Amino acid sequence: MLAALGAIWSKITAVLMSVIMTFLTTTGLHAETSTLNAEDYLNENVKNVILLIGDGMGQLHLEKAKQERNITLVMDTFEYTAYSRTCSLSSLITDSAAGGTALSSGVRTYNGAIGVYLLDPLDIFSHPMNIRELCAQNGMMTGVVTTDATSGATPSAFSAHESSRNNTEEITLDQLASDADLIWGGENGYAEKAEVEANGFTYVTTYDEMMALEEGSRSFAQFTNNLWTLEQSDANTPNLEQMTMKAIDLLDDTDEGFFLMVEGAHIDKHSHSNYDEGMTEALEEFDKTIAAVLEYAEADGETLVVITADHETGGIVKNDDGTYSFTQGGHSAADVYVLAYGSDNFVKDGETINNYEIPQRIAYTLGFTQEQFPAEVFNY
Ligand SMILES: [Zn+2]
Repeated sequence: MLAALGAIWSKITAVLMSVIMTFLTTTGLHAETSTLNAEDYLNENVKNVILLIGDGMGQLHLEKAKQERNITLVMDTFEYTAYSRTCSLSSLITDSAAGGTALSSGVRTYNGAIGVYLLDPLDIFSHPMNIRELCAQNGMMTGVVTTDATSGATPSAFSAHESSRNNTEEITLDQLASDADLIWGGENGYAEKAEVEANGFTYVTTYDEMMALEEGSRSFAQFTNNLWTLEQSDANTPNLEQMTMKAIDLLDDTDEGFFLMVEGAHIDKHSHSNYDEGMTEALEEFDKTIAAVLEYAEADGETLVVITADHETGGIVKNDDGTYSFTQGGHSAADVYVLAYGSDNFVKDGETINNYEIPQRIAYTLGFTQEQFPAEVFNY
């Protein structure tokens, strides 16, 4: 019955999509269907994938951080520099929910959506499978690590399917029912210890508990969320690099390989408040995490590392005197970097791609087919 309804609904969806596409085209927005060839991205040497997302990290965020902290960045040393168009289906300026869904699931959707289609927001018929789920269903170990709350928009896009990023309780239930091996981030008040454990996860709240985790365990971390700021620190709350390297240590345990998403959330948070020192510190921490990940990938030789952002935050501009300033407290439509290590055909140097192609290219690098992870999606 549901399958029959689903078939009818997909026909209705196709008609609605063509209507919307016509509307978008007539309003001047460019409509297109992506058609990547899976074979173009296949790399038989790649077994593991680490996707690092600097939330809100535009191109000039890097310049601002280098100048104001007098540092160099490992992100500047990549052989291939490509760019991502970040718009969502409902706006040229995306939010982290739609941006995260594009990066996790290969589809553009409306702002606020967590892993659901524009035309089926309540997930009555179907939702797009995300790249982490695809990997998990094929025997790989998978994890999600963030400095945001575990139910933040970006980690949720890799571990939940909800009509709104604000459905914190439902997102948490989705995550506890998910097949992820680890989901680590800040506490959100909804993940009770007993419930977490009843779902087969070890409940973790401190650095020491995290470091004590052993291979083969599944874990759900609720670290003290407000400690990832300049004003406060706690020796027993891990930083992004510590979380990331421990997560790799736990996931790097099977012949099938692993998929890990890592988010540096505070680049965005501090950009919203135009807090220079907080943003540049968060970016430096993100870059240090990338350095550690690259060291692992170089030694491992079977790991694709992809770095990007979901969107730019703060509208950073270069001033006449050569300094960099925020110009607003919201997101912008500026293209962001796509950097890759570990597979020469992942992106071409100088290429500008659509955000939703990133998980598609990851899937095809790993040898998944277009049937397993579709490339033909409606986007604009
Ligand atoms: Zn934001």
